[in-house]
Amino acid sequence: MRKPLMAGNWKMNKTVPEAINVVKSLKSAVASVSGVEILICPAFTALYAVSDEIKGSNISLGAQNLFWEAKGAFTGEISLEMLKDAGCSYVIIGHSERRQHFGETDETVNKKTKAALAAGIIPVVCVGETLKEREDNVTFKVIEKQVRVGLSGISPQQASLAVIAYEPVWAIGTGKTATPDQAQEVHSFVRKIYEQMYKESAEKVRILYGGSVNPNNVSDLMKKTDIDGGLVGGASLEAESFAKLVEYSK
Ligand code: PEP
Repeated sequence: MRKPLMAGNWKMNKTVPEAINVVKSLKSAVASVSGVEILICPAFTALYAVSDEIKGSNISLGAQNLFWEAKGAFTGEISLEMLKDAGCSYVIIGHSERRQHFGETDETVNKKTKAALAAGIIPVVCVGETLKEREDNVTFKVIEKQVRVGLSGISPQQASLAVIAYEPVWAIGTGKTATPDQAQEVHSFVRKIYEQMYKESAEKVRILYGGSVNPNNVSDLMKKTDIDGGLVGGASLEAESFAKLVEYSK
């Protein structure tokens, strides 16, 4: 049985006081939730303070990026030891915004994924096609390469722990969600590829859907067999809407 995971990606939003404000409200709003794992991924600057605030709660902490080297002359980068020290147990890797604006490739995604798993931090590896790729009918080809390269070379046990997020680029921050059927089609394809790579780990890996998920569309998405949770941007920024998402089944 895969435990659903609802993850909030706050992107480049919120100062420390703003982050703490949201977390205080979220903590009490979701205090009784146990059937869904709850994850928030604030900006680097807010990680330590948020980690302190969520101690003893049912909310986990993740970062939005990492660098794979352990330390040294890498100005501006953040290591896994630093993320662990700040209280992170998850890290988002290869978000389409990082691919688009910061030169992230399937190869760098793979280096980061391997480094995160070796350090005991769970990677949330993002894959997804652009609108042009969907229109050109190359969605499956693109996704297959992203999964095969991005998640290659890990152990079966690590393969079970990793999380994959399918985020069609055309659905991120646009208000245009993939239909539950469109999402399910890709999720089941991802699980098939994963099965070829890592056999029974495919049944354990959680595959999240991301792209304009909100409290109104979450239940229909979550009814699909291969959708194990959500990676949520906009609707995770306020405690009220994120709490509603977390309680999708109620
Ligand atoms: C995201 O940031 O990964 C995302 C899916 O954003 P949104 O929910 O705002 O579309």
